[in-house]
Amino acid sequence: MPATPNSDTNFVHAHQLDPSSQAVVPPIYRATTYHQADPWNPPPFDYARSANPTRNALENAIASIEGGVRGFAFASGMAALTASFLLLKSGDHVIVSEDCQGGTQRLLRGVFSRFGIAASYANTDSLPHLESVRRPNTKALLVENFSNPFLHVADIPNIVSWAHRHGIEVWVDNTFITPYLQNPLRMGVDLVLHSGTKMIGGHSDVTAGLAVARESGLAERLYFIQNAAGAILSPDDAYTVHRGLRTLPVRMRHASRTAYELAQTLAGNPAVSTVYYPGLPGHPGHEVAQRTMTTERGFGQMVTFRLKSSEAVTVMASRLRWARIGAGLGGTETIVSLPELHCHAALTPEERRIREITGDVVRVSVGLEDSTDILEDFSQALVF
Ligand code: PLP
Repeated sequence: MPATPNSDTNFVHAHQLDPSSQAVVPPIYRATTYHQADPWNPPPFDYARSANPTRNALENAIASIEGGVRGFAFASGMAALTASFLLLKSGDHVIVSEDCQGGTQRLLRGVFSRFGIAASYANTDSLPHLESVRRPNTKALLVENFSNPFLHVADIPNIVSWAHRHGIEVWVDNTFITPYLQNPLRMGVDLVLHSGTKMIGGHSDVTAGLAVARESGLAERLYFIQNAAGAILSPDDAYTVHRGLRTLPVRMRHASRTAYELAQTLAGNPAVSTVYYPGLPGHPGHEVAQRTMTTERGFGQMVTFRLKSSEAVTVMASRLRWARIGAGLGGTETIVSLPELHCHAALTPEERRIREITGDVVRVSVGLEDSTDILEDFSQALVF
């Protein structure tokens, strides 16, 4: 009996038992080449860049969970995004969420613009804004969900119907929401992407990217790029990411619960001017989240807030005892990032000013500590 695709059971059992050993977890195959007893009828594995059993186990598992036809594992989230943009050709145009992470903008501006691929940035909450940047040669729309750092929630079904009406593919970078809380392919999205370095890897110890295509035509094009450009995930890292994937549901439930409590606590703290958390009824994306995500499982582990001054951020950072400070998210430890210095450092000061990413903004990736310790940590660090 097949498991429900994004059930806890499928996260654990989406991969097959290893056919040669019946091992319950996928063995690490390091071989780069395979004996071909009949080279005129090559076996499924012939050369490691093209396919590897450990990587395939992860790719099949994420495809099954997301509800797509084929999964792909890359050496990093940026490698997955690069492979996606390589689906385009010179003269094509792509629309990207205006509040996407800095690395995506750096890649488009610093690399793909040199190969004749143009990008426009749009508020994906607004169909009129999307329409205003659309061009006859627009081939893809990349939506980052939630947005970073203010955690806007994209109305995926609405966006998909607009884009498909114009022959535009929809790609969703769902790193922040994770396949446990949302499966965009089931809402008509063409390609879902993840930085596996974050919640899916889950332990701040592996760099990886994942992609899943909804239909075979796109899957074939992406496989061609994966094999031709070669930014594949190593077998050891595929094993580690797959281990993380199996425990994603329990980690997300715990961290989302603490994130919700932290958001509520911060909202009542006089040092905090605004809390951005989709689980709070006042968040502009709350209703969309309820409609498009499995919110009974939680609203995710990311919480962003704004303090009343940048100086208060410096004091808070010096007082935190449990939370770690730095770039990154999705690990077992709570991580505080300062978007101006970390995730959005690649933007110019003017771009950050327009997007209101100033020194008073703090982004928290809530970890797996006792929630009481985390709530207490922020409360004691935010006494002014
Ligand atoms: N997508 C999102 C939403 C991210 O936050 C990041 C990194 O922060 C990436 C992609 C890139 O992933 P990686 O660091 O694994 O290359």
